[in-house]
Amino acid sequence: MANYEAFIIKYAEIGVKGKNRHIFEEALVRRVERALDPVGEFKVTCIAGRLYVEARRDFVFDEVIAALQQVFGVLGICPAVTIPRTDRKLPDITALGDAAVRYFGDVYELADRTDDRPLTFKVKCRRVDKTYPMDSMEVAAAIGERLLDAWPALKVDVHDPDVLFHVELREQVNFFSEEIPGPGGLPTGTAGRGMLLLSGGIDSPVAGYLVARRGAELEAVYFHAPPYTSDRAKQKVVDLARIVARYTGTIRLHVVNFTALQLAIYEKCPKDELTIIMRRYMMKIAEELAVRNHCICLITGESIGQVASQTMQSLLVTDQAVKRMPVFRPMIASDKQEIIDLSQKIGTYETSIQPYEDCCTIFVAKHPVTHPRLDVIEAHEDKVREELDRLADEAVETEEVIEAAPAP
Ligand code: ATP
Ligand code: MG
Repeated sequence: MANYEAFIIKYAEIGVKGKNRHIFEEALVRRVERALDPVGEFKVTCIAGRLYVEARRDFVFDEVIAALQQVFGVLGICPAVTIPRTDRKLPDITALGDAAVRYFGDVYELADRTDDRPLTFKVKCRRVDKTYPMDSMEVAAAIGERLLDAWPALKVDVHDPDVLFHVELREQVNFFSEEIPGPGGLPTGTAGRGMLLLSGGIDSPVAGYLVARRGAELEAVYFHAPPYTSDRAKQKVVDLARIVARYTGTIRLHVVNFTALQLAIYEKCPKDELTIIMRRYMMKIAEELAVRNHCICLITGESIGQVASQTMQSLLVTDQAVKRMPVFRPMIASDKQEIIDLSQKIGTYETSIQPYEDCCTIFVAKHPVTHPRLDVIEAHEDKVREELDRLADEAVETEEVIEAAPAP
């Protein structure tokens, strides 16, 4: 591996946001700075549509990459080698050629290469400092020749090279050719705030992650039903919130005691409608907490047809419980396996599959309605509306708030 001292960060969509572009860029710089804070000392600047991250002291390469891979908005991370000025002058073409030869030797281990097939490359030069005595075409050609002379394993391919070797002449010279993928998306804090209904399952943490990746800040609500659901179940939700918080920053988790409301629904409503009525009340409470905490959408992990309460008819009836904001369901069209793959990628899977009791699974009917009708459900709710609404208000007023800081 080469002796990397800088990282060039590519971001995609932010670049096309017109007048608002600087808002996105400043947010990205702040997020990158914050992510790198625990792993070293870096200077982060935004130049010409890219972030330039310069190390001020030694760092552990893998730690820096891991930190940057948790910053939404980062599309690609290019580790770069830096050749500084001497006596305020950029290195001449001979010095650049020497450095390029060393770079290829280190990064592509050319001295030990046994592959018969040549490694193809192309040099791309960008001359930001226009006082450099050669233009970018001349620099690229000269470096290309030096590389061919030094390494017989190399061959030029200008159309589809294995290695696109970037040479950038700026305050210093930077070489880079490798790109490590970032999470993509938009920087946190550039969308709005969403209230995630976070259970201990696989789907809801992934749903929160996906909406957060579009720049949203998250709060979360968990419906707890002690003694039917244990402290372990609650701790698991806290753990999940902390994993998602690695990407978003600390998440305020609202823990709502749902027991009294659930028992009332269980006693007073038709058995086959328990789940759907319970889910409507979860949505209502989540919406109220969202309004109080300046969130402008709800987020759930629902997916069409996954269970009885997620048929399209059930989703229609659940959705009608929310009046003041949209409900985002990013997993709506995903298969379970696709959701599992994502949860493994973001790091929530191992926690999600720990066994636990779910408040929805304890009070379920053997044959829940799969095609509920809104008018029928509402009529049944009306009969006990006063009591249910009062219990819902109490649940909101007695919430516990936990600050879920990013998991290490
Ligand atoms: P998940 O894997 O996210 O738990 P699920 O497949 O178990 O989802 P349901 O139990 O029907 O599905 O829940 C659907 C959605 O409702 C969840 O994705 C989550 O957003 C929300 N939800 C369910 N139970 C709770 C709870 N106890 N607290 C907060 N939100 C919940
Ligand atoms: Mg669940």
